[in-house]
Amino acid sequence: MTVSLEIVRERLRAVPKVDVLARQPSLARFRERLGEAGVMHACRSVIAEVRCRVMDGADMPSLEAAALAVAARLEPVLSARVRRVINGTGVLLHTNLGRAPLSLAAVKAAAEAGRGYESLELDLEAGGRGSRGAYAERALAELTGAEAALVVNNNAAAVLLVLTAMAYGRGVLVSRGELVEIGGGFRVPEVLERSGAHMVEVGTTNRTRLADYERALDEHDDIAVILTVHPGNFRINGFTEAPMLKDLAALARRRGLTHVDDLGGGALIDLEAHAGLAGEPTAADRVAAGVHATCFSCDKVLGGPQGGAIVGERAVIDRVRRDPLARALRLGPMPTAALEATLEHYLARDMEAVPVLAMMRRPVAEVARRAERWSTWLAAKEVRCRVVSTEGRVGGGTFAEEPLPSAALELEADGHTAVSLAARLRSGPTAVLPRIASDRVLVDARTVLDDEEDALLEAVVAACRSNLAV
Ligand SMILES: *Cc1c(COP(=O)(O)O)cnc(C)c1O
Repeated sequence: MTVSLEIVRERLRAVPKVDVLARQPSLARFRERLGEAGVMHACRSVIAEVRCRVMDGADMPSLEAAALAVAARLEPVLSARVRRVINGTGVLLHTNLGRAPLSLAAVKAAAEAGRGYESLELDLEAGGRGSRGAYAERALAELTGAEAALVVNNNAAAVLLVLTAMAYGRGVLVSRGELVEIGGGFRVPEVLERSGAHMVEVGTTNRTRLADYERALDEHDDIAVILTVHPGNFRINGFTEAPMLKDLAALARRRGLTHVDDLGGGALIDLEAHAGLAGEPTAADRVAAGVHATCFSCDKVLGGPQGGAIVGERAVIDRVRRDPLARALRLGPMPTAALEATLEHYLARDMEAVPVLAMMRRPVAEVARRAERWSTWLAAKEVRCRVVSTEGRVGGGTFAEEPLPSAALELEADGHTAVSLAARLRSGPTAVLPRIASDRVLVDARTVLDDEEDALLEAVVAACRSNLAV
C-alpha cells in the first residue's frame, strides 16, 4: 500500500520537535547528570527513528513514549559513567570503588596538575629536561631505605616491567606456593609469561625450602630472577614452610641473580603499631632483607592514587627505567601529583591526613557512636534502623580475611527485601553501596567519609521512604 506524499508530510509535521522532547520532565535527571547536549543527541536519534517509522505508516508515538525511548537509550550511558559512591561496605580498599580515597591535599595536587601546565618533565633550576616522578621516587626511596625507586601505572605494571627488564628470554624461579591469582585477573604465571621470561617452579604448594631453590639453580643455567609474591588474601594454614626472604636475597646475590618481590600492599609504616593490624610486611622490611627490587601498589594500604612502585638497588632500578616498556607503563601527571602529596604526609609523619590510615585506626567505640548518631537522626524521620556491631575488612588483597571490628546501621523498609532496598540505595541520586549480610542491609560507619554524612542520611531517608509513595 502506498501512502500519498501529502499524508506523509502531514504526519511528519506532527512528529515532536527535538527540543520539546528534550525538555520532558521525565528526562530531567539525564539533563542534570549528562548535560543538555547529551540528551539532545539521544532525542535527535529517537526522533529520526520515529520519522522513519511514521513514513512507513506506523502510528505516531506519544511524547511520553518518545521520552521513554530516550530514557532507555540514556540509562546505560548514565550507569556506565563514573560517579561518587558512599562506601557503606566496611571494606576500606574496595577495588570496585577505586580503592583508597585520597587526602584533600592529594586531590588538590591532582586538580592543580590537571588544570594547568606543570614541571612534569622539566628541571626548573637547570631549565633542561627533568624526570617524571623524580620527587615521588626520592620520597619512596627515603621512606623505604632503598637506594632508588621508580613509579609506574600500577603494581601489575611494576611486576611486568621488572620481570621484562631483568629476565626477558630467561628463567624465573617461583615457589609453587606463590603461584597465586590476586584478583581482577592478575595471575602470577600469566604475567610472568607475558614478560617474555619462563617460569621454573620450585618446591610444593605448602613447603618450599632454600634447598629447593638451590637445586633448581643447579639444574637450570638460564635463571635470571628469583621471584617471591606476597599471597595477599590467600593463606595456607598449618604445615607450611618458606625460606626467610633475607636468605633468598643472599642466595640471589651469591649466584649473581636478581631477587624480585611482589609485595602487593606497600605498607610504608608498621600497621601493627599504627592500628593494631598485625601481619602486613612493610616495604622497608623488604629493602632491609636485601631484596633487589620490591614492587607494590600505591593505592592499597599506602593510601595514595592508582600507581605502582619499584624500590631497591640503583643498578636494578636504572636498568628497569631504561627498558622500552617503561614508557608504555608510566604514571600519568595527575596521579603523579597526588602520589607526591600523599608521600608528603608520610614524610611529615602526619598519618591522620591519609584517609585509609585514619579509617583503619579509628577505635570501634568511636565508629559505634557515629552509627548511634545516625540512628537517632534517622529514627526521628521514621526510618526503621538500629546499630549493630559488625566486621569490616581492610581489603585490596591485604589482610583481606582479617576482620576489622566495626559498627553499622541495619536498615529495613516496608515492602522491601534486603536486595531491593540495597538496589534503591545504590541507584538513588546519591549512590550508597551497603553490605548485605544474612539478609540484612548494613551501612558500615567506618568507611563513610566525614563529609559524606549528610548526603548519606538524606539518601537513606529517600531510599527507605520512597516505597511509601508506591
Ligand atoms: C594487588 C596486587 C597486585 C596488583 O596490583 P595493582 O596495583 O592492582 O596493579 C599484584 N600483586 C600483588 C601481590 C597484589 O596484592
